[in-house]
Amino acid sequence: MALEMSISDSGSPAAGAPGASGAPDLTPGELIGNFVGGADTAPSGDRRLPVRDPATGAQVREVGMSTADDVDAAVEVARAAQLEWAAMPLAARVAVMYDVRNAIRAHLDDLARLIVEENGKTLDDARGEVKRGLESIEYACGLPSNLKGDFSADVARGVDVHSTREPIGVAACITPFNFPVMVPLWMLANALSCGNAVLVKPSEKDPGATVMLAKILTEAGVPAGVLNVVNGDAVAVNALLEHPGVDAVSFVGSTPIARLVYEKGTAAGKRVQALGGAKNHLVVTASADHDAAAAAAVSAAYGAGGERCMAVSVLVAVGDEVADTMIDKIQSLAADVKVGPGLEDGMHFGPLITEQHRDKVAGYLAAGAEAGARIVVDGREHDRFGGEGYFIGPSLVDNVTTDMSVYTDEIFGPVLAVVRVDTVDDAMQLVRDNPFGNGAAIFTGSGAEARRFSTETNIGMIGVNVPIPVPVGWFSFGGWKSSLFGDSHMYGDDGVRFFTRQRVITTRW
Ligand code: NAD
Repeated sequence: MALEMSISDSGSPAAGAPGASGAPDLTPGELIGNFVGGADTAPSGDRRLPVRDPATGAQVREVGMSTADDVDAAVEVARAAQLEWAAMPLAARVAVMYDVRNAIRAHLDDLARLIVEENGKTLDDARGEVKRGLESIEYACGLPSNLKGDFSADVARGVDVHSTREPIGVAACITPFNFPVMVPLWMLANALSCGNAVLVKPSEKDPGATVMLAKILTEAGVPAGVLNVVNGDAVAVNALLEHPGVDAVSFVGSTPIARLVYEKGTAAGKRVQALGGAKNHLVVTASADHDAAAAAAVSAAYGAGGERCMAVSVLVAVGDEVADTMIDKIQSLAADVKVGPGLEDGMHFGPLITEQHRDKVAGYLAAGAEAGARIVVDGREHDRFGGEGYFIGPSLVDNVTTDMSVYTDEIFGPVLAVVRVDTVDDAMQLVRDNPFGNGAAIFTGSGAEARRFSTETNIGMIGVNVPIPVPVGWFSFGGWKSSLFGDSHMYGDDGVRFFTRQRVITTRW
């Protein structure tokens, strides 16, 4: 069976041979600075962090850390630009989004190669990331249908009422390392088309592709100052959270930082949506197609080296027979998983993002074994483990119990923990009791089991015989419990509501 581990798109074909567009090269130089007012600007302080190629460990460039003054200057630019952008007719803003779509398609390979260089994922996976991000732009191209208000005639004699949705102002979009193009697109597609100005604060680990994206959008017609990038770390994030000129904050990252961003941002009076981490369970029952479930588990647990918030990290086997069958099948598929540099042909996943992270993942395997779990497949035995690149192979861990750190923590690496339970009810209880609520899947041949799982678990996104149920761009994405702080999910209709506020006008002539 051929293993497919790249992120899958919803079918939209995309252009993108390198250089095919004839467009200028937007690859960043040695120092990645900020992009403010349509121009490269250097952060005012002298703090810099290395940006490394995770496949070699070599430094490929540096990124400047913005100070509070840099954030201040960028907010001022964004506020001024937003007024004119919001005053543009909706059809004119949407026309820009159509051009943005074409420009991203033309630069698809440039973006994907830069993602691979700084993030480490495979080229196919990086292309898939850009294509999934494009869905949000395509949704934004249909904004005129999604932004229509309501109208009630004659609510009293001669009185009509109508509602409008208007931009919220300036939005800060703070993003994680694992999707440096897709997650910014989730946020900025709706933010921009609804008439807001945006400041993106990418991860300091792989900021290059986000800066390239902002330049592509600006070249495509987003006016200078409407889309800006401020690079940095907690200093820049805190400055954005405290700044009175920032109206809304859209965040994606780990749960502790999501909680902190939500608390600080709302305390400062801002509208905040903060998406956090995950521990996604895949339940396999006796009636499931076990070959399909094993292939799905391998792809969903090991694809992108497990560095996806919708990665499956726990396989819940209902009954020992199912557990033994699944372990045999996954073990044999895992032997064919190829781990190596993301630009090399045929790799299923690449290195992890940093050396520290790779070592932390290895530490969870040691802790699991120490606590009594059985390491069936050990990623530390991979021939590239411990070298210059941050590689670790796929791991499969059996007899995991809910008190082990390999179960309780979001590992964010290619580690699949198997928890054995006796009944489907036990499996559902396990999912319900977990503090995270991003995604969960059930593989079953029973409609009744699938329906109960879909309606009786407390999870934001459910897959039935689908392992990574990431909603397409015209639905919205978001988890429950500690996987999301705030009221609205990301992109789709929820995204439009998040980046606008409603006005209701009552009229009598
Ligand atoms: P992270 O929380 O470390 O960083 C996210 C952003 O927060 C970055 O821009 C970072 O610079 C900033 N940040 C980090 N520490 C901060 C601090 N102390 N104060 C203020 N800002 C800070 O996350 P990451 O390691 O970049 O990304 C991986 C995490 O993101 C995983 O937990 C993953 O599950 C999660 N994630 C969630 C989703 C989702 O949709 N729910 C999607 C992708 C990733």
